Amino acid sequence: MWLPLLFGCTGETEPLPPTVVWVVVESFRADLVAGSELLPNLDALKEDAVVFTHAHAAAPNTLPSVATILTTEQPWEHRVVADILTADRFGRVSPFSTSVPATWRRRGHRTGGWASTSDVSERFGMERGFDHWDERPNDPARLHRTGDETVRSALDWLAKDDEPAYAFIHIADPAFNYAPDSSCRGRFSDEPAFELPVDEERFHRWRSNNPPTDAEVDYVRRLYAEQISCTDEAIGTLVAGLREQGRLDDSLLVITGDHGEELWDVSGVTNGHNVRSILTHVPLVVRMPGLEPHENDTTVGHAEVARALLDLSGPVWDWMVTGETVSGRKAWSSSPSRTLDRLSWIDDTHRATLSIESRTMVVWQLDERGWEAKVARTYSTESQTWAAPEFTPMLELREDPFMPIVPTRPWLAEVTPP
Ligand SMILES: [Zn+2]
Repeated sequence: MWLPLLFGCTGETEPLPPTVVWVVVESFRADLVAGSELLPNLDALKEDAVVFTHAHAAAPNTLPSVATILTTEQPWEHRVVADILTADRFGRVSPFSTSVPATWRRRGHRTGGWASTSDVSERFGMERGFDHWDERPNDPARLHRTGDETVRSALDWLAKDDEPAYAFIHIADPAFNYAPDSSCRGRFSDEPAFELPVDEERFHRWRSNNPPTDAEVDYVRRLYAEQISCTDEAIGTLVAGLREQGRLDDSLLVITGDHGEELWDVSGVTNGHNVRSILTHVPLVVRMPGLEPHENDTTVGHAEVARALLDLSGPVWDWMVTGETVSGRKAWSSSPSRTLDRLSWIDDTHRATLSIESRTMVVWQLDERGWEAKVARTYSTESQTWAAPEFTPMLELREDPFMPIVPTRPWLAEVTPP
C-alpha cells in the first residue's frame, strides 16, 4: 500500500517507496537467470517483476561496477577504479558524485549497506551516504560471508523500526575462489577434481593462458552452480523476510549482478579480463507495486537504470511502466583501470570493443544470446579518423597527467557497425 502523503514525491507523480532494497550479486551470470533451474526463488520473484533481458554492467569487475550502482555515474565519471598508484585521485567515491544512499537519506529513508568482499569497502568511499555500513574484508580461510548471513543481517536492521529505509545488499556467494558454503557444497559436484579452496599456483596457471583440464573446467562450473544455488536461497530468505515484516508490497526491490563470470566460455576464468557479454551481461529484476510484470528486451546499462530507479522518472523508468521494448539502444561498459583499458558498447546486434592501449577497435556481430559470435570488422588508429564523441570522456581520463597511459593523439574510428 502506498503512502504518498506521508513519504512525499520525487517529481510530479511518483510516490516514494517506503522500502528500497538493492541486491547486487557478485559474479552473476545472466544466462543462468534466463534458462536454468538453479534459481527457483528468483524465478518466483520474476513472475511478479519487470525483468530486463538485455541489461549490462558498467564494468566487468567489482569496484567500478558497484560504484556505478551507488552513484549512477559511468566509471569514467566516478573514477572509482583499482589503481593503487593514484588511489587518492581515482580510488574513492567523490563527494561531488551523486550518492544514491545519500539521496534516499535526504528523502527521509535510513540507509544501510552490507558489503561482502574487500572491493566494496570504505577504502574506496563506498560507505558514503550510509547510516549503517557493514563490510567484510577478504578472509584467507573463507573469502566472504554467505549471502544468507548477509541478508539476515540486513533484515534484522530493517526490522528495527517501521521507518522508510534503503538497503544495499552485496551478496558474494558466486565468486572465486569457488568454495561454496557447506550448506550447498556437493549438490552438483560429488567428484572433486582438486582440493578447495583453489590454490594460488593453480589460479595463476589458469590466468596465464594455460588451459585447464576438462576435469577442472567441469568441476569449477559445478562449484559455481552450487554457489548460485546458495545465492538463490538467500534471495528466498530476503523475500520471505520482507513479506513477514509487511514491507514486500511497499518495496522497490532490485536484484542484479555486478558483472558476469567467465568459466572458460570465451577467454579465461573469473572476471575483469575483457569487456564482453560474458562479463557485462547481468540479470536485472525490478519488483515494485504499480509496475506491470513483464520481460523487457530493451538494451539498458546500470548507470541509467540506477538513475531511473533513483528519480522514478526518465525514459528507462517509462519503459518499466509501459512495458515498451525499445530497439536500437546502446549500453556502455568500460574498465578504466591501469591494467585494462577497454571501452565497449553493445546494441541489439553488435558490440564494439576498444583497446586504448593497442589503439584498435573490434566490432562483433552478436548471436541470439547477445554474445559475440564473430568479428565483423576491425579498425585501427592508423586508417581511421576520430568520429566517436561518446568516447571522449574516456580519452580525457586517459589524458589526465595522473593516469599512467596517455594517448599521444586522437586515434579512432568510425563507429557505425558494418
Ligand atoms: Zn564482482
